[in-house]
Amino acid sequence: MLRLLPRIKPGRQSIPAIREINQELGEDSISTDDEDLKMHGYSEWSSVNIDRLPVAVAFPKSTAEVATIARVCHKYKVPMIPYSGGSSVEGHFAASFGGVSVDFLNMSEVVAFHPEDMDIVVQPSVSWMEMNENIKSSGLFFPIDPGPPAKIGGMIATNCSGTNAVRYGTMKDWVVNLTVVLPDGRVIKTRKRPRKSSAGYNLNGLFTGSEGTLGFVTEATLKLAHIPQESGVGMTTFKTMRDAANAATQIVRQGIPVGAVELLDDVQMDVINKMGATGRVWKTLPTLFFKFSGTKLGVQDNIEDVRKIVKDNRGSELEVEQDKAKQAVLWSARKEALWSMLCMRESGHEVWSTDVAVPLSRLPDLVEISKRDLDKLGLFGSMLGHVGDGNFHETILFNGAEERELVSKCVHDMVHRAIEMEGTCTGEHGIGLGKKEFMEKEVGEGSLSVMRGIKLSLDPFWLMNPGKVFDP
Ligand SMILES: Cc1cc2nc3c(=O)[nH]c(=O)nc-3n(C[C@H](O)[C@H](O)[C@H](O)COP(=O)(O)OP(=O)(O)OC[C@H]3O[C@@H](n4cnc5c(N)ncnc54)[C@H](O)[C@@H]3O)c2cc1C
Repeated sequence: MLRLLPRIKPGRQSIPAIREINQELGEDSISTDDEDLKMHGYSEWSSVNIDRLPVAVAFPKSTAEVATIARVCHKYKVPMIPYSGGSSVEGHFAASFGGVSVDFLNMSEVVAFHPEDMDIVVQPSVSWMEMNENIKSSGLFFPIDPGPPAKIGGMIATNCSGTNAVRYGTMKDWVVNLTVVLPDGRVIKTRKRPRKSSAGYNLNGLFTGSEGTLGFVTEATLKLAHIPQESGVGMTTFKTMRDAANAATQIVRQGIPVGAVELLDDVQMDVINKMGATGRVWKTLPTLFFKFSGTKLGVQDNIEDVRKIVKDNRGSELEVEQDKAKQAVLWSARKEALWSMLCMRESGHEVWSTDVAVPLSRLPDLVEISKRDLDKLGLFGSMLGHVGDGNFHETILFNGAEERELVSKCVHDMVHRAIEMEGTCTGEHGIGLGKKEFMEKEVGEGSLSVMRGIKLSLDPFWLMNPGKVFDP
């Protein structure tokens, strides 16, 4: 049961707020259509969904329009929930207290591209995949790669990452500045456009990862990286998850600059075979996939170094492709992994997708214990990990309340174990609704009280995405 937040009285005040937004921004600026409400309050990818939906969905076209929406909602004390790609997985945009979902659909422009400065200025609904496609002739790219539907606004708000993080870090490392609309409608810009700055508090870091609880990101300048001269994709199988995890962590510890190192368990490989989308039959064994990138010589050296570590850990012969088309086939197994898993879901069944991260040296233990627990669960579940960062995911399919209970216990055990190993309840997905209960155990009451203080100073009426990350 959700605890009611003290300052929000959900309900009637939404009606004058919707009317006023309508009057100020025009008829097409806000919708109360049932389909729109459902799409913005429910997610089939999420481990948590609730019965409640937003009362309206606003579609601003500019920072000024977002500021108007915030001012009106603030006046009537109506909750506001930012929405970009809708691909988050922990009930992040669930309308716990009703309110207005603010969808950035109409803010999907590249505002400026500065190849000479290696940065790009974008609106929140720009897709990272489309952006990379559009700028690739410049020789530059944006290296953060979460779910394909993700958009920049949500990526900043979740401090996301993906397969490239072992080489390029996470979203927070690529933000130069942000334009943010605060909950009362004030507009701020966190910095100018230098690639580094020590001027004052790091407000980029404050809003990145705040999950829409502190303000709306309406524009962002992002750093770009060079597309590497040479690349390679490799794969190898192991008899046990522990061997695979040991190999991955040794590769990182030895400083071999792999572009990615991803672990898929036997169940995941079997699912990929069953879906047949990759044009190849894979061994159903724990499998490591690699990306290599750099100069021609550097890539060759890295491949040979990895080959040796794989062999030392009883892996199969490392298969490597350097031809672009063949690389795409090899990497397609990793790319298809989560979709393939989701496609196995029977109609009406649910999915629980979760992630944790631990210090590198603890990864082999955690992976082994979690795999054992997952097998014991007796449900259909797979493991997949960005193991070069000590980060891995479980995806479990289930049906009904009884099975939900079982999955919940399995996930809780894994999270507690990760925290006890000095890890985190989420390496990249974020807290949303689903992981709120672990916050105190992970960061402690002292840090939580500082977070509450920051929240109250920016959002005293607790209107921005209420019910997420932590409670008052
Ligand atoms: C198939 C699949 C694969 C995935 N793989 C990965 C992965 O490898 N790595 C990873 O990190 N994640 C992954 N995810 C999760 C997801 O893609 C990321 O969390 C992503 O960053 C969410 O972006 P979004 O635009 O979809 O955000 P949304 O779901 O729209 O929103 C996420 C949160 O951000 C807030 N928000 C949205 N826009 C704004 C804004 N403009 N200003 C302020 N707050 C805002 C929302 O209120 C919400 O709390 C995956 C998801 C799927 C479905």
